[in-house]
Amino acid sequence: MADGRNEFGKSPNLRVTRETFAASKKVMSLFTFIGQALMGWLLADLFSGWVHWLEDRVLRIDMPILGPAIVLPNRVHHTQPLKFTYSPFLRRNMWLWIAVTMISVAMWFIGLPFTLWAAMTIGGLVVNEVHRFAHRPGLTGPLLKTLQKIGVFQSPRHHAGHHRMPTDTRYCTLTDWLNPILDRLNVWNGLERILSWIHLEPNRGTA
Ligand SMILES: [Zn+2]
Ligand SMILES: [Zn+2]
Repeated sequence: MADGRNEFGKSPNLRVTRETFAASKKVMSLFTFIGQALMGWLLADLFSGWVHWLEDRVLRIDMPILGPAIVLPNRVHHTQPLKFTYSPFLRRNMWLWIAVTMISVAMWFIGLPFTLWAAMTIGGLVVNEVHRFAHRPGLTGPLLKTLQKIGVFQSPRHHAGHHRMPTDTRYCTLTDWLNPILDRLNVWNGLERILSWIHLEPNRGTA
């Protein structure tokens, strides 16, 4: 075509521009998907760390309902790390699933982007099993071992750091990625200091 148009009357340059635009849109969607999935997974990890820190350092064993349901089993897990790994599936996950379901429903109504919401929910639901695999590496096959190696699932080696006395670091139990940042920033100690300032002295694992 002498005027640069094809038989449909469209400029080839315009078609190339449209194809390039469509391709870059696909790449952007992929980046958005990965970004949201990663963010949701890390939020679930942060949630696991926050609850674990509360159980270890703030809540009391003699509290009604929460004491026997989550605080005591968590404290026992420090001295007998394998005990919870042998308890029935429903018993070791029930309270976590109730909490995650409530938060997840609330987040759905708030209108979080779907991928972020789904990753956060899935991460929250599996975190106790990921913790169990960190204590029982013998249960993991090649896929789980790979996930542990890259830190998507917390590795036994990383989690062992929490079990070193005085067990006041590495509270997050889903990945290997968030704990180094939170511990370097002294986030949990900072929260404990804030609680002290407002006269809600944390028991720091003594009660
Ligand atoms: Zn702990
Ligand atoms: Zn543990």
